Amino acid sequence: MVRALYPGSFDPVTRGHLDLVERATRLFESVTVAVARNSAKAPVFEVEERMQLLREELPAGVGVAGFQELVVDFARREGYGVILRGLRTVSDYEFEYQMALTNRHLAPDIETVFVMPSHAYSYVSSSLIKDVVRHGGDVSSFVTPRVEAALKAKLR
Ligand code: ADP
Repeated sequence: MVRALYPGSFDPVTRGHLDLVERATRLFESVTVAVARNSAKAPVFEVEERMQLLREELPAGVGVAGFQELVVDFARREGYGVILRGLRTVSDYEFEYQMALTNRHLAPDIETVFVMPSHAYSYVSSSLIKDVVRHGGDVSSFVTPRVEAALKAKLR
């Protein structure tokens, strides 16, 4: 039985992230979503806001955490055997491949596992959703009503 850690920016959580978590809960003993505090991207939501939205949207039993160190250091310290990542399109592959092999070099005992979302969400990204909201578009197919409201409050 393996516990999985799903690290990322989650700025904000989308239906694609939620789809991935739902699939992962069927594969692993437990799943924890971990928000990176040191992401290079300029985020719209504070880490605590992103964690709160995750807590509100994730199914019961899925954990939420924040972390600042290398993801493999956090995973090892907290006893996670798997790092979960999503693969949407071929363009995700190159970066994810580099990151997975770098993490394997740093921590050979931790395995990265990729899961594909439903094709309905394979083109959904937090950054594109933010652009659509900024320009007044409808994102209700891509995020939950609560996340949509939080986005509108931030961006309009
Ligand atoms: P990061 O800055 O680490 O890429 P993201 O929140 O953008 O953070 O993504 C975290 C993980 O979730 C990545 O593995 C990414 O590929 C995956 N992901 C993002 N959007 C989706 C989606 N629509 N469907 C499935 N996986 C996704």
